[in-house]
Amino acid sequence: MSRIAYVNGRYLPHRRAAVHVEDRGYQFADGVYEVIAVRGGGLVDEEPHLDRLDRSLAELRIAPPMGRGALKVILREVMRRNLVRDGMIYLQVSRGVAPRDHSFPARARPALVVTARHKQPPAGAAVEQGVGVVTVEDIRWKRCDIKSVSLLPNVLAKQDALDAGAFDAWMVGADGRITEGSASNAWIITKGREVITRPPSQEILDGVTRRAVKALARQEGLSYVERAFSVAEAKSATEAFLTSTSARILPVTRIDDVRLGDGKPGPLTRKLLRLYADYERRAERAAAE
Ligand code: PMP
Repeated sequence: MSRIAYVNGRYLPHRRAAVHVEDRGYQFADGVYEVIAVRGGGLVDEEPHLDRLDRSLAELRIAPPMGRGALKVILREVMRRNLVRDGMIYLQVSRGVAPRDHSFPARARPALVVTARHKQPPAGAAVEQGVGVVTVEDIRWKRCDIKSVSLLPNVLAKQDALDAGAFDAWMVGADGRITEGSASNAWIITKGREVITRPPSQEILDGVTRRAVKALARQEGLSYVERAFSVAEAKSATEAFLTSTSARILPVTRIDDVRLGDGKPGPLTRKLLRLYADYERRAERAAAE
């Protein structure tokens, strides 16, 4: 079966799905995106993702390409045409096509691209054994709360991690504290069983998975603390993990050359993993009703 992409009003075979050379997303990274997980044919946390899309667009003064109802129809149609029951939906909105000029174009219409692909959530070794992360300098701009397609620092950080034999990079701000992963939020658990992650600010993306895990931790009566933490503190944590739509909750068992705890995913991380799996199943059931 060939893949189908939605591009500005048309459903096209993936290999022919292209945008104009003067699309401002292509020339200026003048656009935003979202990635939404599909589990059992249902979209996980669709509303928070679409709320964040609206927020990113508003921050950049890009008009939404259409109303939410129409957008939801397209997301489902792309899912259906690609027969995706477990995977990811990617959607990107750029400011549109216009002769190249830094200033906002007077008349460009926002451009929308939606793709879907099969992808099982990470399983097996990564979840059971945990992954390693390396720390790198955070060289991004000062509006990391906007889910902009301008991801070059994140791309470089991820590649640095892979080159060092790690799964991801945790970026470190000028104050020596960890901001977030290249495409995920960073969490640690201390000896005192505090579950710590950085509060939302312009320095990080407020992850939708992060918010779900926060709610689950609170419901479970865990000691949830929102504050920034240093690299040294992270290295002395007993457990750590990262969260994102595509990785869900992934245990982190090594930071640079330091092994955390006994080097295996810890009990609280495993508990949160179980709670998150149940949470996804509830989303699946809700979508099926
Ligand atoms: N931070 C960054 C920089 C990201 O790219 C992502 C993934 N989109 C996240 C955090 C996690 O966000 P979410 O849980 O909404 O996928």
